[in-house]
Amino acid sequence: MDEASVRYTNAVLIDDELRTHIGDFLLHTDGSWSESKGDEDVIHNLDGSKRLITRSFQNWHTHLPMQLNARDFSDGLPLQEWLEKSIFPTEMNLTKEYARIGALASALEMIKTGSTFACDMYHFPDAIVSALDEAGLRGIVCGPQTQWPPNAEEDDGAVRRELDSQLASNRPEDKVHYGVATHAVYTCDEDTLLAGKELAEKHNSHMTIHVSETRKEVADCFKETGMYPLEYLDSIDYFIPNRTICAHGSWVKKSEMRTMAARKAILAHCPSSNMKLACGGTASLPAYKEAGVEVRLGTDGPASSGSGLDMAHEARMACLVQRHDHWDASALLAKDAFAMATSGSKDWATWDLNDIRMNPVGKDNERHISNLIYNGGNCLDLWIDGNPIMQSGTVNTINEKMLLETFNLAVTDYYS
Ligand SMILES: [Zn+2]
Repeated sequence: MDEASVRYTNAVLIDDELRTHIGDFLLHTDGSWSESKGDEDVIHNLDGSKRLITRSFQNWHTHLPMQLNARDFSDGLPLQEWLEKSIFPTEMNLTKEYARIGALASALEMIKTGSTFACDMYHFPDAIVSALDEAGLRGIVCGPQTQWPPNAEEDDGAVRRELDSQLASNRPEDKVHYGVATHAVYTCDEDTLLAGKELAEKHNSHMTIHVSETRKEVADCFKETGMYPLEYLDSIDYFIPNRTICAHGSWVKKSEMRTMAARKAILAHCPSSNMKLACGGTASLPAYKEAGVEVRLGTDGPASSGSGLDMAHEARMACLVQRHDHWDASALLAKDAFAMATSGSKDWATWDLNDIRMNPVGKDNERHISNLIYNGGNCLDLWIDGNPIMQSGTVNTINEKMLLETFNLAVTDYYS
């Protein structure tokens, strides 16, 4: 256990097994915690009497710069139309600086809502890494291998070479690492998918892809290859065990789920996005669980989910849609959604117990997780490696006022 950075007195702490503890606690720089005897040297000594301490949220599917595409952007369009008529044409105006500002605005929203990690997929990955570094957050930033904008000039492989050198710059001690994005089977041919795998394998990095998000994607893939998307990906030996993140996985057969489990692919469930874009289906978590697939949670981009990057909100959506879809009130409990949304977190968030949404606390302080997931809460403090990213609601790493001005100007320019 490393040195302690912070002591909270009189606080409520939820541990990794979701047990509730009440008392004085130390948070250590290595992410562990212990009870305080009161005499340890710490940098921050804080009154925790109206604070709930939990692990921070981990968001496993994002497009952070899409904060630029405000939430009502082309509201009402289904996925394919939304991509082809709105997103792709607008993205022709994308620059590295717009991507950085959009990602920084997303980082601010993550901090305010208690998330410390994003697995991202977008253009200009170096701009996104820079934004997450500035914000002090963790991330895996997966860059595409193709030229952007696509008509800017002939793709001579320069972007792939740049991603290769970005991946080579990954160091284990960094909080943010580069990964490889292969967008989807309908936008990447076999050579592109396998070239992505080759890069990820070469650098021991993560790889991410959208899979079986809509029935159209599945039908088109079947028409072209005679296989469902996950069957097709397996037929070309696409998966890297434990390092392939498949977003959505909504229209998937049980045999494909078993393939995912065998290949140790990880599912990122994105319920808000699926519902907002009228995909008509979401990942069947009971079936994934039965198949033995590891499932995490993601918000998708702020424009596609329509609900931003708030992971407590996303966990609530997961609870609701799983129960609704399966006619089963026990399909996903709040505590299981919370565990899925914080899985692997080494960081800490504290929540305001003076907030009406976090009350009543219950006679044994047993209602906190349900309150947070079903009702939301105010995140007050956020700790990474013992460093305060936010304290009492004030973000230490980003000047919020200045960023909002820059962000609004950037959005106006982006659409002009
Ligand atoms: Zn996505």
